[in-house]
Amino acid sequence: MTEGATEAATEARRLEGAPFATDIRARVAAEVAAFTEEQGRPPGLAVVICGRSAPSMVYLERILKGCAAVGVRGEMVDVEGDDAVRMEAGLTTALRRLNADPTVNGIIVQMPLPKGVRLRTVIDAIDPLKDIDGIHPLNAGLLRLGFEGFVPATAHAALEMIHRSGVEVRGADAVVIGRSAVVGMPLAFLLTREDATVTVCHSKTRALADKVRRADIVVVAAGQPGLVTGEMLKPGAVVIDVGINVLEGRIVGDVDFESARGVAGAITPVPGGVGPLTNALLLSHLVRAAQRQASEAREVAET
Ligand code: NAD
Repeated sequence: MTEGATEAATEARRLEGAPFATDIRARVAAEVAAFTEEQGRPPGLAVVICGRSAPSMVYLERILKGCAAVGVRGEMVDVEGDDAVRMEAGLTTALRRLNADPTVNGIIVQMPLPKGVRLRTVIDAIDPLKDIDGIHPLNAGLLRLGFEGFVPATAHAALEMIHRSGVEVRGADAVVIGRSAVVGMPLAFLLTREDATVTVCHSKTRALADKVRRADIVVVAAGQPGLVTGEMLKPGAVVIDVGINVLEGRIVGDVDFESARGVAGAITPVPGGVGPLTNALLLSHLVRAAQRQASEAREVAET
């Protein structure tokens, strides 16, 4: 361990997601109540699932429970089919129906899609105004160009955790490990927009430890347990662990929490860090979509 690491040994702050999620849900519940009063119906979220698998069901049931808790109408839409071709056709039909339904304000499609079902099918069919998890190229493009759109909820949750750690993002050196379209890349754009200097690392990155060691902010979204250890960290760094892995029957992140907490200034635990915030933020995106759709409908009615 380095000298700095020893100094910081007992100081890593644990960044729990639950208290932040509770704050966000309380705000969302108030907005949902106001929307319901004004529109005579609650905002609606549709969760589309292609082929049921056990982990997906647990995740989706949690989302639907979250909807009920804040007064949102949540519905699960099953797409069935014996093969990928039929499933893609069913997915397109389901998404078109949901796009046209004014009581559905947001749509999410459970990932990963079954083998052979192309993401392109979802992208081609989903209405970008209802794409509250930011997978449509319009939303990805708006983020890339620095405009407002829907950002993937997980990337948004990681950014929120960084803000709540109190670290100064402007001018900070940030390392994002993982370059996926749902976590790594959107987060890299969000941090760049806030004036951090961002290095995106991935499976082919050489000398990962050297890059991590220079970073004030480290976000890990690789799906590799134990990828980042305490000795790779700069003392006092803010460490955001997005990874969710099952190891020997336990859920663990991508960071070796035990060694990292002796060196980091603040660190998110897994479970209990980024995860709880993700669902709360997804609901906040839904409310924003519902408010925007209602105001556009008002404008159309007035012309
Ligand atoms: P992905 O598989 O699409 O991408 C993984 C990325 O990590 C890739 O860019 C890959 O190049 C990189 N990578 C893999 N091994 C690496 C290594 N050894 N060194 C450096 N980079 C490496 O995954 P994803 O969908 O972006 O998810 C990443 C992790 O986040 C997973 O563990 C997933 O379960 C988790 N996740 C969490 C939430 C949440 O709410 N907390 C939501 C979505 C995903």
